[in-house]
Amino acid sequence: MTGSCHLVDTGGKKVLFDCGLFQGGKEEEALNAAAFPFDPTAVDALVVSHAHLDHIGRIPLLVKQGFHGAVYAHRATLELAEIVLRDSAHIQETEAVWLSRKRQRLGLSPAQPLYTQADAQAVLAYFQGADYGQRVELGEDLSFTFHDAGHILGSATVQLAAGGKTVVYSGDLGQTGHPIIRDPERVTGADWLLLESTYGDRLHPVREDVREELAAAVDLVVKRGGKLLIPAFAVERTQEILYELSLLLSTKRIPKIPVYVDSPMAIAATQVFVRHRETYDAEFRSFLDAGNDPFAFPGLTFTATAEESMALNNVKGPAIILSASGMCDAGRIKHHLKHNLWRPETVVLFVGYQARGTLGRSLLEGAKSVKVLGERIAVKARIEQANGFSSHADQRGLLEWAKGFRRSVRRVFLVHGEEKATENLRELLEKEGVAASVARFGAAVDLTV
Ligand SMILES: [Zn+2]
Repeated sequence: MTGSCHLVDTGGKKVLFDCGLFQGGKEEEALNAAAFPFDPTAVDALVVSHAHLDHIGRIPLLVKQGFHGAVYAHRATLELAEIVLRDSAHIQETEAVWLSRKRQRLGLSPAQPLYTQADAQAVLAYFQGADYGQRVELGEDLSFTFHDAGHILGSATVQLAAGGKTVVYSGDLGQTGHPIIRDPERVTGADWLLLESTYGDRLHPVREDVREELAAAVDLVVKRGGKLLIPAFAVERTQEILYELSLLLSTKRIPKIPVYVDSPMAIAATQVFVRHRETYDAEFRSFLDAGNDPFAFPGLTFTATAEESMALNNVKGPAIILSASGMCDAGRIKHHLKHNLWRPETVVLFVGYQARGTLGRSLLEGAKSVKVLGERIAVKARIEQANGFSSHADQRGLLEWAKGFRRSVRRVFLVHGEEKATENLRELLEKEGVAASVARFGAAVDLTV
């Protein structure tokens, strides 16, 4: 599911698609420190699909272990990747300090971070930006082209042409109708396809329902006079919510109340969105052309400093606070939860998946009290959930997209999905007459036979 990383060996050159971090659970995360199942010094180029940590999070390790080729990605992806990798390094360092203290008390040697800020910084020298549709030459008879994957800003599907054959790597595919960015581009013609399968066994609800759920949560907090806390991922989900809020404001579906974005990472990511107008879809462009600005509307405040963030404790409701992390396991959202969960006028709206073991999951499951920043806090707030926000194509979306390859593709390899989802999608593809296999971690496939 996580730790995306695929190596294509053409015989002459080695090209890596993504180099992601393993996430979710101790067992998976332990894989991050393990050696790569290939020699990093022998890889010629790394082609990156998008800036999510499970696709880029191990690049600093790759460079640390001797990789010295170019790291190609869409220009917007490189800007987001810098933010995401710096944040990841910061988390690694913080965790190592905490772990070292614990180890020292046991008389053990200090813990080393997976990588440091300096390691993340070192990666930037290898970055080479490309645009959608631009053909990038990697060597004789070897090139690739990015197509818009419609997943997050800058996300790409990679079409690699090598010796007259084509390998397509879907990256993560977006949902049709996803706001701000364009829909996944139809790509056709590939001999082999690596297809993500996150939602290979599920269908998403209709988009309008999500907008109404958000509006209903705002109504609720206006009535109660409290704060609406929205834990949201800093990249994409925060900007998506801002767009939805400004849309609801423009149609007067919700009243004007103060909106705060309280996450340094989300603020930096929003600036990347502002810089990359060329990636916007027609709907978003016309919303902007009509004089709206989802990233700078009246009542919207970005609170960058810690002082500004703390000052939000004294803000009287109703107000909306968007803060990271999306699962409440880190970041400033924890402070807002500590100060507001015990107040009955507070509303918490979850707009993303909450993994098992996270604070967000406990709240969703109806915990009467939770431990936040070392303190036990009673949960008197109303906990709500909007289910339809998704950056991923659902089963129908994946199948429709894969049909573009039906005539040419020899085999589809399903990646990036949990067992049930991948198996489900494999069966459906086979029913459509497309040969499909579930990729296994560490397995190699000979494409010449
Ligand atoms: Zn992703």
